[in-house]
Amino acid sequence: MSKTTRTTLPGDSPAPGSRDLPPLAVDHDRLRAAVREILIAVGEDPDREGLLETPDRVARMYAEVFAGLHTDPAAYLQKTFTQKHDEMVLVKDIEFSSMCEHHLLPFSGKAHIAYLPNGQIVGLSKLARVVDTVARRPQVQERMTEDIADLIMTHLKARGVGVVVEASHSCMTIRGVRKPAAMTITSSMRGGFLDNPATRAEMMALVFGRQ
Ligand SMILES: [Zn+2]
Repeated sequence: MSKTTRTTLPGDSPAPGSRDLPPLAVDHDRLRAAVREILIAVGEDPDREGLLETPDRVARMYAEVFAGLHTDPAAYLQKTFTQKHDEMVLVKDIEFSSMCEHHLLPFSGKAHIAYLPNGQIVGLSKLARVVDTVARRPQVQERMTEDIADLIMTHLKARGVGVVVEASHSCMTIRGVRKPAAMTITSSMRGGFLDNPATRAEMMALVFGRQ
């Protein structure tokens, strides 16, 4: 399973004696300076009126879209309820937006999560919280899909997990190949969803089938 918590940002060295402090949030001063540099580098005047507040605005935006770097998604899966329900639980159409780590451009779409409980269920909104936390990091869709599946498999001790993510990537729509209609679909199957084609087919029919 990939790492799900980070206590420092890349490039930051922890201050002496800071071990017991909460994880570092983004460094606003550094972000503001970096955005100002970008504006100069592209040939803009960062001191013209329309851009004066931009470095600060962008710094606050990054703090928001990367808030998942400072939250452990597993925390949402600690409180479970005993429930004798051994059929599939599916939450579909969980909207999310994330940032592609290759271009720092947004990608957004929907995640669909199904699991086969093993005597323990979790509050349905917690699945959406897990998606949000994992999405609010520099990401690639493939890893995001895997991480969500592994988190649920591990912390709910589920008999199986299926995660399908569909998203549109602005790094494909506004630059490069410029294919605005392209959707990327990724899936990660574990346990019963991997071993049993009927279970997987049932999930896909519920997610993509017309009702
Ligand atoms: Zn990209």
